[in-house]
Amino acid sequence: MKFENTLQFARTMDNKDPLRSYRKEFHFPEVDGQPVIYFTGNSLGLQPKRAKDYIDEVMADWAKMGVEGHFYAEKPWWDYHERLAGPLAKVVGAKQHEVVVMNTLTVNLHLLMVSFYRPTAPRFKILCEEKAFPSDQYMLKSQIRYHGYDPKEALIEVKKREGEHHWHTEDVIREIEALGNELALVLMGGVNYYNGQVFDMEAITKAAKDAGALVGWDLAHAVGNVDLELHDWNVDFAAWCSYKYMNSGPGNASGAFVHERHLNNKEIARFEGWWGTSKETRFLMKPEFEPMPSADAWQLSNPPILSLAPYLASLTLFDEVGMDVLIKKRKALTGYLEFILNEIDKETESTFEIITPNARGCQLSVFLHGQGRPLFDFLMKNGVIVDWREPNVIRLAPAPFYCSFEDMYRFGQILKQGVRTE
Ligand SMILES: *Cc1c(COP(=O)(O)O)cnc(C)c1O
Repeated sequence: MKFENTLQFARTMDNKDPLRSYRKEFHFPEVDGQPVIYFTGNSLGLQPKRAKDYIDEVMADWAKMGVEGHFYAEKPWWDYHERLAGPLAKVVGAKQHEVVVMNTLTVNLHLLMVSFYRPTAPRFKILCEEKAFPSDQYMLKSQIRYHGYDPKEALIEVKKREGEHHWHTEDVIREIEALGNELALVLMGGVNYYNGQVFDMEAITKAAKDAGALVGWDLAHAVGNVDLELHDWNVDFAAWCSYKYMNSGPGNASGAFVHERHLNNKEIARFEGWWGTSKETRFLMKPEFEPMPSADAWQLSNPPILSLAPYLASLTLFDEVGMDVLIKKRKALTGYLEFILNEIDKETESTFEIITPNARGCQLSVFLHGQGRPLFDFLMKNGVIVDWREPNVIRLAPAPFYCSFEDMYRFGQILKQGVRTE
C-alpha cells in the first residue's frame, strides 16, 4: 500500500475503515481536554463503554436476589463463565470445551505446569526464549526447583544472534532437536513483550512434538492481536491474560487452553477444586471428583462474577467484529505507523531503529538512538501514551479496535516537534 504523511490521507483511511464506529465503544483518557493517542493497549486495553452495564447488571442482581442470583440472575452466576468460552475460543482458534476463563495468568501457568511438566531423570529440560517476561522466568525456575532440579541445568534459553534484536525460528528448532529426548517441555511467549516478535508457533509446536516434548504458549501479547489456531497447531496448553489486547480491565481474569486430547485423560495430574467437578453432580457435594469433560476441569473455585462481567462485555465486541477484520486493520495501521516513523526519522535526521521484525502483531518497539527519556516525557505531556523500557526503547502498540490512522499521523507531528525541541 502506498502511504502518505498527510492528515487528508489518514482521514481517507479512517473513512474506509470498517472498524471506525468501534472507536466510540471505548473510553479514551484525555490530556488538556483532548482524547489521547493510546499506544499502550499491549499493557492495559481501554475500557469498553458497555463494561459498566455488565457490572451494573451483576450488582443489581446481587442487590435484588442475594444468593438466588446464582440460579435466577439475568445471567445466572453458576455457569456465567461458560458465556465467555465460546467467543474466546474463536479468538484463539480452539473448540469451546478447550477454553476456560479463570484465575490470573501466572497462576494458570503454574496450574497447567502441574499437569504438563512431569520431569523424569532423562527428560526434565524446559526450553524458553532468553529474557522471557520476568514472571514467566520466575514461574519456570520455581517449578523446576519444586521438582528437585536445578534451573541452571534444566532451563534452556534460545538466544538471539550476536548484534540482533530478534530470534530466528530455525535457531529455536535446532535447539529443540539438539535437546531431543531430554526435552520435557517447550514454553515460550507467542509474541515477545519486548520486541513485539511473533514466533512461528505452528512450526515450533510441531518440532517440539516431533521431539516427544509437550508444548505450552504464554499468549499474553498474542491474544486479540494475532491469528491463533491452537487446536489445529496441536498445542498442548496455553494461557493468557485478558487486560492487554482483550480490554477486560486491570488485573482481570486469565484464559486457559487445554487441547481436547488431554481432556479425558483420567491419569492426568492436576490440582482440583469443586468448580472442576461435573456440574451435574457438583451440588450433591460428593467426595469423589468427576472431572468436567472440558478445560473447566482445571477450575478450582467458583468464579469472580464481577470480574467476568467486563470481560464478557469486551468479548461481545470481539464476537461482533471477528479476528479477521481486526487483523486486516492491524496490518494496515501498524504499516502506517512504521511509515510515519520512517518519514519523521528522515525529516528530523534522527536515528530511530525499529527492532520489531517483520513477523509482528500491532506493536513496534523503537530504539531511540541519541534520544532518551526527555523525548518520552515530551510525548506523554503532549497526549501520546507510550511505554518506556530500559535502556531507551519505546513500545508503540496501536490496537486496531480503537486507534485510528489520524492518531498515527498526529503522533508523527508530535514526535517531530519532540525531536526538535529536546
Ligand atoms: C503481561 C504478562 C504477564 C503478566 O502476568 P500476570 O500473572 O497477569 O500478572 C505474564 N507473562 C507475559 C509474557 C506477559 O506479557
